[in-house]
Amino acid sequence: MKILVTGGAGFIGSNFCHYCYAHEPSSQIEKIIVIDKLGYSGSIENISELMEKENFCFIQADICNQELITQLLFDEKIDAVIHFAAESHVDRSIDDPAIFVQSNVVGTFKLLESSFHYFSSLAHKDKEKFRFLHISTDEVYGSIPMDASPAKEGGLYAPSSPYSASKAASDHFVWAYYKTYGLPAMITHSSNNYGPRQHPEKMIPHMICNALEGKELPVYGLGLNIRDWIYVEDHCAGIWRVLCWGKQGEVYHIGKGSGISNIELVRKICSLLDIFFPRLTGKSYSELIRFVADRPGHDLRYALDVSKMKKELGWEAQMELEKGLEKTIFWYVEHKDWIRSVMEKGYALKRQGLYRKA
Ligand code: NAD
Repeated sequence: MKILVTGGAGFIGSNFCHYCYAHEPSSQIEKIIVIDKLGYSGSIENISELMEKENFCFIQADICNQELITQLLFDEKIDAVIHFAAESHVDRSIDDPAIFVQSNVVGTFKLLESSFHYFSSLAHKDKEKFRFLHISTDEVYGSIPMDASPAKEGGLYAPSSPYSASKAASDHFVWAYYKTYGLPAMITHSSNNYGPRQHPEKMIPHMICNALEGKELPVYGLGLNIRDWIYVEDHCAGIWRVLCWGKQGEVYHIGKGSGISNIELVRKICSLLDIFFPRLTGKSYSELIRFVADRPGHDLRYALDVSKMKKELGWEAQMELEKGLEKTIFWYVEHKDWIRSVMEKGYALKRQGLYRKA
């Protein structure tokens, strides 16, 4: 399989590339080509080890560059497109939604156009092989009431933030290309990911990095929002399953299938840090927790029904949260240079309720 991975220098995309070479048969991976514009959250260091492989290639480009992407699909005779590239941080989407529309909506549209032109040109047997896998989020379903069952595949969309609205719009375009033009598409919706190489602006690395520097740990509102955390490698294994055995026109939910409140999660991180990196003062890291003004439009609960992945594709998440958090903490402790270089690229973070106002 020759795979084009968009956004492959970002958190999940780069982990997916590493996962493929580490865990999947080399006979299955003829070549992986990463396209990434290297925005603030994309880092060449995330894939530098893979650059030495003969069957790996990186091209710095924007997915909106339709001509370049179309040419690439034809030149490389791509079998599958896995589309990760997106602006991904909800807080940033509240401050500056335009870039989310550009990359997530227009970018996906352009990628679909390129893919469709290429797909149309393929011979029948190659058409049967081709796949367009779009990576989406549980956030498109909006907040799931506490007493309601987790969202099932095909559930109603109710996005709350400019980020989730842009992802929802991109999902709709993917289905339009499937239904109207027969582009063999599939969509996965994943819950919150964590693990190595996640930008330090995201919640788990933010808490780890701040705690180790003795800085405050800002928690939105009362910290009661519920999220289902999946270790990134589990997510990548699920994506691989869908890529190889998923059916076109189908939606798949990828998550752990459990929920934890933000405040419980932060307390867990503090407890693990207390064990492995005790403070000189002897006090717990949890004393650094501060409740800050809530994020506008903050969904209370995300919850995915993940039973289809198990039933149809025999996949389920393996990593327990405590073990995954421990691995993640150690990764950040051991990669201080990576943190420094990523932060230098831009870290205009607004986690303290400093959003733009009407
Ligand atoms: P990320 O921000 O770490 O990576 C996104 C990558 O896309 C970056 O390398 C960035 O440079 C690149 N990119 C952005 N716009 C681009 C463009 N116009 N052209 C080319 N490259 C572009 O994000 P992530 O957490 O790795 O998320 C990857 C995908 O997974 C996104 O589509 C996101 O919506 C989805 N997702 C993420 C999570 C999560 O918890 N992180 C959960 C569910 C779904």
